[in-house]
Amino acid sequence: MDLRLSHLIDGQARSAGNGAWLDVFEPATGQAYGHCPDGTADDVAAAVSAAERAFPAWSALPAADRAAWIERLADALEARVDAFAAAESRDVGKPLALARNLDIPRAVANLRFFAAAATQFASESHGAPGIVNYTLRQPLGVVGVISPWNLPLYLFTWKFAPALAAGNCVVGKPSEVTPVTAWMLGELAREIGFPPGVFNIVQGRGAVVGQALVDHPRVKAISFTGSTAVGVRIAESCARSLKKTSLELGGKNATLVFADAPRAKLLDTVLRSAFLNSGQICLCGSRLLVQREYYEAFRDALVARAKAMVAGDPTDPATNLGPVVSKAHFDKVMACLALAREEGGRVLCGGEAVQPEGRCRDGWFIAPTVIEGLGPSCRTNTEEIFGPVVTLQAFDTDEEALALANATPYGLSASVWTADLSRAHRLAERLEAGVVWVNTWMNRDLRTPFGGVKQSGLGREGGWEAMRFFTEAKNVTIDLG
Ligand code: NAD
Repeated sequence: MDLRLSHLIDGQARSAGNGAWLDVFEPATGQAYGHCPDGTADDVAAAVSAAERAFPAWSALPAADRAAWIERLADALEARVDAFAAAESRDVGKPLALARNLDIPRAVANLRFFAAAATQFASESHGAPGIVNYTLRQPLGVVGVISPWNLPLYLFTWKFAPALAAGNCVVGKPSEVTPVTAWMLGELAREIGFPPGVFNIVQGRGAVVGQALVDHPRVKAISFTGSTAVGVRIAESCARSLKKTSLELGGKNATLVFADAPRAKLLDTVLRSAFLNSGQICLCGSRLLVQREYYEAFRDALVARAKAMVAGDPTDPATNLGPVVSKAHFDKVMACLALAREEGGRVLCGGEAVQPEGRCRDGWFIAPTVIEGLGPSCRTNTEEIFGPVVTLQAFDTDEEALALANATPYGLSASVWTADLSRAHRLAERLEAGVVWVNTWMNRDLRTPFGGVKQSGLGREGGWEAMRFFTEAKNVTIDLG
């Protein structure tokens, strides 16, 4: 247990004001391997004050200079991609190759994308005879970003990069479950001399540090990604001060497989959408809806592929399924499996913990699980599990598929597999989701609007949406007469 993390406040590494620490665990072994500051409301206040002091100079910088700073951070991160991937893999339990090929490269891409956005962002002008209107898009001031544990650096950068690009100063709060790569990024920021106070990180618990950030009267906006329960709480707190909020919340996404689905990438992609990151991605397709005539063949092929997955040491290249992120989350997913059985589900594979040999024998591993025989309204099919667990349901018609897909309180994403593009367009229009993929999954273009409907969130991230969220529009009208 030697790793000691710190906050980044005003360009300096700091411990929690009260000297308290939280343990940091390695999910693959179940052992603590470091300490993270157990931050306080005073730490948040210090970070907000530092950000306020930095704001006038940062917001006055030409956009190209802000972009250059964000690019420098991207360069430094890219130069350390292996170290960051190893840290992310250890902290979350995800296979090293996944962290190396997805998480860290995407964090670099987020930084570069929003560095470019800083220089490309523009605002509108509305002319009329004798009158001109132009709209200023001004940064808000100090903003808070709060991120979850499933894609730690990927989602942290996705939130703070547009905030900085638009000219705001940031206080970021990573998840206390996976604090390491945010801390490492803070160290990189110090190393490259990122202007002090522009970008601050306060580590610690959600109910303390997160809540203090949300409640701070001089924080102008909160961009949050996490569970629906916490998102609702944040919305309630922010409503009192009319603080701007962007909320990216939970999902219970449907994968609709029609009998005419093009087969080439189908099984590989559906398997990934079910079990990537041990099913701990908000976009994972946890409800598989399959047209009846293809149901049995699809089910059997999927179960065979799931059984062939290798759960084990995330550093082993043969591993394609790591543990779930924490003991608490392991217990939650296991309780969901017990509930699925109580509700009458038939477990076709998995449904139990896995104990790998060797150094990972005490890790929090759960076998990839496929369940059938459950109707659309049971808890297993309506509540988010966020683990390596999927259910199968059969449908006959497009209307039935649509009704099943929309039968949850969530509405983040859906993926439709069919060769009939007219059907795909018709369904895309009526699916209650913020993101619809056709014959693909998690295919992301960073310019597109990203977010959910219903209980999956409020507002959109990505491209101009994020730049608009982090700015206030001010219209100026001039009478030319
Ligand atoms: P969580 O809601 O428990 O925590 C998310 C973050 O909020 C953490 O940093 C946590 O410390 C903080 N937090 C907790 N209580 C808080 C409070 N009272 N005030 C302010 N902050 C507080 O979520 P999690 O378990 O870390 O992540 C998993 C959840 O995130 C799942 O529901 C998943 O679907 C969702 N998620 C959504 C998206 C999306 O883009 N829609 C992406 C990834 C994850």
